[in-house]
Amino acid sequence: MVLKERLAALKKRIPPQTCLIAVSKTHPASSILEAYACGQRVYGENKVQELCAKQEELPGDIEWHMIGHLQSNKVKYIAPFVALIHGVDSLKLLKTIDKEGRKNKRIIPCLLQVHIAEESSKFGFSPEELREMLAAGAWQELEFVELRGLMGMATFTEDKAQVQREFHSLKVLFDEVKERYFADSSDFKELSMGMSGDFELAIEAGSTMVRVGSALFGARDYNL
Ligand SMILES: *Cc1c(COP(=O)(O)O)cnc(C)c1O
Repeated sequence: MVLKERLAALKKRIPPQTCLIAVSKTHPASSILEAYACGQRVYGENKVQELCAKQEELPGDIEWHMIGHLQSNKVKYIAPFVALIHGVDSLKLLKTIDKEGRKNKRIIPCLLQVHIAEESSKFGFSPEELREMLAAGAWQELEFVELRGLMGMATFTEDKAQVQREFHSLKVLFDEVKERYFADSSDFKELSMGMSGDFELAIEAGSTMVRVGSALFGARDYNL
């Protein structure tokens, strides 16, 4: 299948109200342009340098999402244009994003990353750390960040029940936090979960944004 057909097939499996983020990391600008020609406008990258290089080279109406782990000292490079930062995993990072948003005179949309996988290697707040951070309230003083919701990654496993359990736990946490802190905010509405191997389970569990790479662009070659 060519990319155009993979995109069409993928869209049939994703409801129209769910945002498809085409994860283009490691793939060349030419592949992005192919998907762009089919109408795909939202792309996700996980490395600041690659994100900036592609943003400079590619059409200006592309919405660029930073989906990977973000170091505070690199926020300044993406602050002028990034549409959504998915992986905010500390108050320190959120404060840095606020500072860079202020410099750029723009409010930067962010998701808080929560560690839901039963395996221990992934980034993010634990549910308890998230509750503590929100309860402490310092985030409410940040004028140049806008919290849009939560993001999480399930364990990479064939065990479907485990993946469902993890996604469900994030949805329950999302609902809890939404009710407690964002009941009056129409902006806090996104739940970014689901990748090539598990996006259908994520959508069943309430995902509003799926981050799909290899099912669209093919396997990644990290040795390029
Ligand atoms: C690479 C990546 C994806 C996409 O992974 P695929 O399995 O290729 O769909 C999604 N989310 C994050 C955070 C990633 O780093």
